[in-house]
Amino acid sequence: MDNKQFYETFDWAGFKEGALKEKVSKVLQTIPKDVHSIVDIGCGNGIITNVLHQQYDVTAVDRSAAALKFLKTKTIQASADSIPLEDASFDMVFSSEMLEHLEDEVLEKSVTEFKRLSKKYLFITVPNDENPDKLSIQCPDCQYIYNSPNHLRRFNTDDICHLFPEYQLLESFSFGKKVRYYQPSLLKLKKKFSPSSSWIPLYWMPKDKRNTSCPKCNHSFNYPYRFHPIAFLFDLLNVVSAPKKPYWLFVLLERK
Ligand SMILES: [Zn+2]
Repeated sequence: MDNKQFYETFDWAGFKEGALKEKVSKVLQTIPKDVHSIVDIGCGNGIITNVLHQQYDVTAVDRSAAALKFLKTKTIQASADSIPLEDASFDMVFSSEMLEHLEDEVLEKSVTEFKRLSKKYLFITVPNDENPDKLSIQCPDCQYIYNSPNHLRRFNTDDICHLFPEYQLLESFSFGKKVRYYQPSLLKLKKKFSPSSSWIPLYWMPKDKRNTSCPKCNHSFNYPYRFHPIAFLFDLLNVVSAPKKPYWLFVLLERK
C-alpha cells in the first residue's frame, strides 16, 4: 500500500497546537534532566518540536517538505528509515504518533535508525493500544478498506519494549482524552453484518471531519453515514463491554 500521497496532502496549516497543549507540557515534564540534544523524528509541522526548541538543541526530521516549512529549528527532510545524521549524535530520540503509520519494512529500518542516533534515551508516544480497525472506511471506488487516520498497527508498552531490547523501560503511562476501545471480536462481527456506510457514526466523527482520500486509488470523498440497526447493536454491546482509556501512550527508554 502506498500512503505517501495520503501524507503529502495532509492539511499542515490547519493542524494547530490548541488540541495538543496538555500533551506538549506532559512531554516537557517527562524528558530526563540530563537531556540537551534531541532529534524529533516524524516531527510533522512541529507543534511539539517548536516548543522543545525553546529549551533544547533540537533537530527536526520529516519526510514532508510542506510540513517542515512550519519548523523554527534545524530541519532534515528524510524518511524515518534513512536519516543522514551521525551515530549517537543525540541525547534523546523523540518520536510522537509516527510508528503506528509505518509499514513493516519501514518500521524495522526506522527502529534501527532510532537506536543508531540515540546516545542514551528514546521517548516514544503512540495511540494507546488503539484498535485501528475501529475507524475503518471502505473506498467507494476500489472497495479498499483502510483506517481513517491511516494507522496501520497498534502498540502497548510491551510492544514498544520488544522493538528496543537494547533499552530498559524508565517510564510508561497513558495520557489524554479518554476514548472507548473497540473489542476486536465485536468489531469483526459488526463489519461482517453491516454495510460500510454504517461503521463510523456521526458522534465518533462529525460531518466536517469526514473528508478522506483512499491510500490505494487516491479517490477523495466524504465518507457517508447511514444508520444500520446491526451496526448500532454492536456499538451498544461494545459500550457496555469495553472500557474507555486515555488516548496516548508515553514510553521512555534508556540504553542498557
Ligand atoms: Zn480506493
